[in-house]
Amino acid sequence: MGLFRRKTPSLGAAAPQVPTRSLLSRNHKEDVPCACGYNLRGLSFGTKCPECGRDTRLYWESHVAFNSGQSEEAVSFVLDAVRWLSKRSKGSHIAAVDVCQGVCRVAIGQCGSEPAAREMLSDILGLARSEPIGAIVFALVECGILYAAPEDSPDDFDSLPLWPPSAA
Ligand SMILES: [Zn+2]
Repeated sequence: MGLFRRKTPSLGAAAPQVPTRSLLSRNHKEDVPCACGYNLRGLSFGTKCPECGRDTRLYWESHVAFNSGQSEEAVSFVLDAVRWLSKRSKGSHIAAVDVCQGVCRVAIGQCGSEPAAREMLSDILGLARSEPIGAIVFALVECGILYAAPEDSPDDFDSLPLWPPSAA
């Protein structure tokens, strides 16, 4: 499925049919060494290293953090927000703006208030703007952890509104 795009019919044009797929890809395309030296390439995200038993999520997050130029904490947070959105959307497309607002809503859920959530996102996670969120999402796509539709682009994340998140 296209990760970012929630298709809505508009102007009489029929929305294209898009196959629904699992959000988390099973085919990781990049080499990611485990701490034990085992290459985690090809393993499902979140499974354990067959060699040493470590949870592989940490290694994927560190890899994506490096590729996106963001922190591992920010990667982990965005990934959790996308998974939360994916459950709520039941397989329909998720637009870039939805990802950004989902990040804010998850932050409010964790922090208890919008001011505290804004502070956590900007001061701790470095996610005060939509662009770093997009950088993380596309780094996750790049190594096969998330799917994007062909028309999805990092530019979709340019200057998107984060606050206040819609109450959807
Ligand atoms: Zn290992």
